[in-house]
Amino acid sequence: MRLLLVEDDQDLNRQLSTALEKAGYAVDRAHDGEEGAFLGETEPYDAVILDLGLPLKDGVTILQDWRKAGRTMPVIALTARDRWNDKVQAFDAGADDYVTKPFHMEEVLARVRAVVRRAAGHASSTISCGPVTIDTGAGRVTVNGEAIKLTSHEYRLLAYLMHHKGRIVSRVELTEHMYDQDFDRDSNTIEVFVGRLRKKLGVDIIQTVRGLGYRMEPPVAGATA
Ligand code: CA
Repeated sequence: MRLLLVEDDQDLNRQLSTALEKAGYAVDRAHDGEEGAFLGETEPYDAVILDLGLPLKDGVTILQDWRKAGRTMPVIALTARDRWNDKVQAFDAGADDYVTKPFHMEEVLARVRAVVRRAAGHASSTISCGPVTIDTGAGRVTVNGEAIKLTSHEYRLLAYLMHHKGRIVSRVELTEHMYDQDFDRDSNTIEVFVGRLRKKLGVDIIQTVRGLGYRMEPPVAGATA
């Protein structure tokens, strides 16, 4: 899962991005409204954390422009002031949620998880596919009830596939949602990660769809290969 964080306060930007990365997300950082607006317009994100008070372009205008341009990613607004009209403005501009500063990091993380899973069509924080279950709150993966240990990249890959289970996900899409913009991307590495993930899961759950990508799906009982 890949996030965009738009926050002009340097310390807060650093604290937030560190916590989000630690929680397993790829994070792109913007420190002013123009940079943030551009990234949100051009890159695919699973969710955006958007401060409302920004230099160069304010958060509400950014959000209005994104929505006008048909950008549908979930957006959590950060507001410094506990004023009801800021929240109303943010929601009317297309925000999905908000957090008032100062906040507890855990609250932001929980809200990010909630909007990401909602956007992918999941109401519960636990997602299952056949014998594989991920608990997005705890960052835990089990296969037939047994806990599996994954690296952060493997977890990120699995989490994306699980959120989009049953649908074909291309290598390009996976690459775009696995890495931040500064990462030296190579879609061949996706194949390597998928191979490792299959081995660790030990069950036939990530199907290769020739020429198209991968699909998270339990094998059909009785089907021939
Ligand atoms: Ca600000």
